[in-house]
Amino acid sequence: MPDSAEPSIFTRIVAREIPADIVFENDTIIAFRDINPQAPVHLLVVPKTEEYRNVSELAEGDPALLAEIVATAKRLADEHCGGDFRLIFNEGETTGQTVFHVHAHVLGATQGDTLAE
Ligand code: C5P
Repeated sequence: MPDSAEPSIFTRIVAREIPADIVFENDTIIAFRDINPQAPVHLLVVPKTEEYRNVSELAEGDPALLAEIVATAKRLADEHCGGDFRLIFNEGETTGQTVFHVHAHVLGATQGDTLAE
């Protein structure tokens, strides 16, 4: 569990306490559009458990779940941005991590665009 006893903002999205534009959900993962997109396609792929604060903790604690997140990112990229995607995990405040419930940013271009470096 995170340091705080409060559920994370992403747990509240899973519980439908906060609205989100959900694009995928199964028993273990939810994915939705980032409310502040940094690319034409910007999705977040989030494990429903908030047990892991960042990708390093997830890789150590549940590598199969990390692999499922990557596979989900690929499937969503196939659906939303022609299969190419950039996958980002921020880890730590100096990288801009603001939500300490591990999540993957999936960034992609739409037809005719390319992502900035
Ligand atoms: O990696 P980082 O922790 O900075 O990413 C958190 C992301 O969650 C931000 O890109 C922010 O826009 C997104 N967010 C969201 N919906 C919320 C709260 C945050 O898409 N309700």
